[in-house]
This record gives sequence, structure tokens and C-alpha cells, in this order.
Amino acid sequence: MKVYKFGGASVKDAQGVRNLESIVRQADDELMVVVSAMGKTTNALERVVEFLDAGKEEQALNQWVDIIDYHVAIMKALGLQPGVDVRLQGEIPFDPQLPFDENYDQVVSLGEIMSTQIIAVYLLKQGLSVEWWNIPKLLRTDTTWREAKIDTETSRAAIRAGWERAQRPSMVVTQGFIGGTEDGRRTTLGREGSDYTAAVLGNFLDAESVTIWKDVPGILNADPRLEPNTILIPSLRYQDAVELSYSGAQIIHPKTIRPLENKQIPLFVKPFGDPQAAGSKIAADGIGPIDVPVYIWRKNQILITMRAKDFAFVLEESLSEIFDIIHRHRLKVSLIQSSAVTISVCVDNTRFVPEAIDELQHHFNVSYNDHLSLLTIRGTTPEILDRAKAGRTIMLSQTTRRTARLVVKED
Ligand code: ASP
Ligand code: MG
Repeated sequence: MKVYKFGGASVKDAQGVRNLESIVRQADDELMVVVSAMGKTTNALERVVEFLDAGKEEQALNQWVDIIDYHVAIMKALGLQPGVDVRLQGEIPFDPQLPFDENYDQVVSLGEIMSTQIIAVYLLKQGLSVEWWNIPKLLRTDTTWREAKIDTETSRAAIRAGWERAQRPSMVVTQGFIGGTEDGRRTTLGREGSDYTAAVLGNFLDAESVTIWKDVPGILNADPRLEPNTILIPSLRYQDAVELSYSGAQIIHPKTIRPLENKQIPLFVKPFGDPQAAGSKIAADGIGPIDVPVYIWRKNQILITMRAKDFAFVLEESLSEIFDIIHRHRLKVSLIQSSAVTISVCVDNTRFVPEAIDELQHHFNVSYNDHLSLLTIRGTTPEILDRAKAGRTIMLSQTTRRTARLVVKED
């Protein structure tokens, strides 16, 4: 069997869903089809929760109605009858008694529920034999709301049993990005987590391969919106892919590679607009290192610099203290640099940062700069580096022989 994953952009309208249909029809294998929320639905659902949390019920309701209308319009364009073929969630599952993050998961997970319901019913009506899975019942997680951890053993058993029971030949349509707790609450695995779901299911089911269908020709050496001349990288090793995604390449979620590498399952990234194209293949026998310079931007960074409060500064002790705080506050570190009396860390500027800085200030003199991006250039040369630096304000740079990492001010 194979796993196919379709992101939000690939199913943002009826035409996208029809395209998905033609791609799954062309497959000769049994398929596990993992789908994200349609278009920008996840962002819109986030706004619903934020409005409700702020007591702005009217705005929340307007946003909610827009989301429902958007899905209804897609259903109609696909020839489905809203309310008959698919019944969308009627009420917003928000409980003011619960913590924000728990409410977030109940509401935001609906994007994937809706998209997969619509797609499964549509495929059925087109004569395909399809089963819809409500994955929160099978993919068991803990209750780390918004970043739930998968309970691998329980989930593997449930997913395998479900797949065994599925009608043959099988095509299952299910949600990426979401899971469920032991007591039946929905959870989410972290934004853009559908790739990760696809990889985990591939691992559980010993898939022959996992394919991520995207709106780009495959993995490119730079973001085509930022660099005019991009090159397709046809083949790469797992390790290269991890580095690329960790450095900020938006192409695949960083957590995607491990479950695949563990079972040596190849990952294809292919353009959904041109299913016959080769795209990129990530596998153990990939060709590496990549021989064109690769530019990767990681946006929305904040550089935090800690300076010793007294002269009794021991680097090792400070490091362990700092990383304990960073870990507890769920910060994502993208770069570290230390000198005799300072330590700088560049992290994603998330909602967790202010509290972490508060705590760091108890121990160090802390300063920080935000509105930064981290540019990683792999396969760099001195000339390439000079060109990248020109006209930019560089806050910090780290270079090795082949890789340069620049923390730059966003314009
Ligand atoms: N719909 C979720 C998000 O936008 C998950 C995903 O797209 O992978 O974050
Ligand atoms: Mg998405």
C-alpha cells in the first residue's frame, strides 16, 4: 500500500478535489489518503477560537459562518447536497470553562474533519470504493494540546487493525494533523502536521512509499517566491531533508523524516498539477550532498542574548540552565552561539517567548532582537555568501566550510 498526502492548497476548491480524484484513480495500489483542511481553513478556525476566548462572540460567529459557507460552496460545486450528503458540524465546540489550548484543539481540528468528509463522499459518489476514518479514534495521543504526542504502540495496533478490517482493495480517506486522547477528545499535532501524520501512518502500515502532493514541482533549492532561478532537486538523502526542513524549508514538516527513515520508506514530493512528473525522491539511497547552493529562510525569529550577571560565569552551568528553561517553555531553537560571557539563541518567535524571557531574566541580563529571519545557505562559497550579505543587516553569522547561517533583519 501507499500513503498519499494532500495539503490544504491542493484541495482549496472543487477543482482541487477533482484533481485529487484523478490522482487517486491513477494509482494501482491500495491507498491511505491523508488530507489537510481546505485552503486557509485552519487559520480561519484559529481566529474563531481567539474571538471566543476574547469574548467577541459576534465576530467568532461571523468567521464560523464564513468557514461553513466556504465548505458548502465547494460541496455544491462538486454536486453534493449539503446537509444530505455531508452534515457539517452545527455548533462551535467551545467550552469557556476549558483552557484555551484544549478549546483550540476541539475547534481547529474540525478543518480536517470537514475536508475529509467532503472528499470521501465525493469519491464515493464518483464510484470509487472509499472508507472514511475518524482518525482521533485510532491515532492516540497524550493531552499536550496543540502539540500532542502520539502514543505509538496503541496507535500502531489500532491503525493496523483498522487497515486489516478495511474492505479490499482499500482506499481510506482520513485526516492529517489531528489525533485523539484516551477519553475521546480531539488533539492537534502542531501546525502543518499533516505530513507527519502521513509519515507515521506509512510507518505503521509498512507502506511501500509516501507521496506528498504539493503546489510546487518538488523540492527546490530556494523558495521560488524569493529567488528567481530555482532548481529542482530530484533526489536527496533523509539526512539532507531533515536539515533542509529544520533550517526552515517549507517543503516538508521536520518531523516527517524520522518515521520514514526508521523503516526505510521513500518519500516522494510531487506536483499535484502534473502527477506524471518525477518530482523529488527522499530515500536512504538518495544522492548527496546536494551540489547546488540551497537557500532556506526561517522567518519570524527572535535572537535572545544572555549575559552573565556576575563574574562567576560557568558556561556549562549556564547552558544547562538556559536549555532547561527553553525546553520547559517549548521554544524552538534554530541557532546557538556562545562567547566568554554571553550566550545567544535564535528561536522561533512564538507565543511562548515572553514567559521564557521573563524566567531567563531571573538568571541573566537578557537582551533581544525580533523581526529577524534566519537564512541558511548550504553548499555556499565565499562569493555566494558575499552576495547574500549585500544590502542586508546581519545580526549574527555562523559559517562552516559548506554552510552559512545568517541571522538577518527583516525589511
Ligand atoms: N491544516 C493544518 C495546518 O494548516 C495541518 C496541515 O496543513 O498540515 O496547519
Ligand atoms: Mg494547512
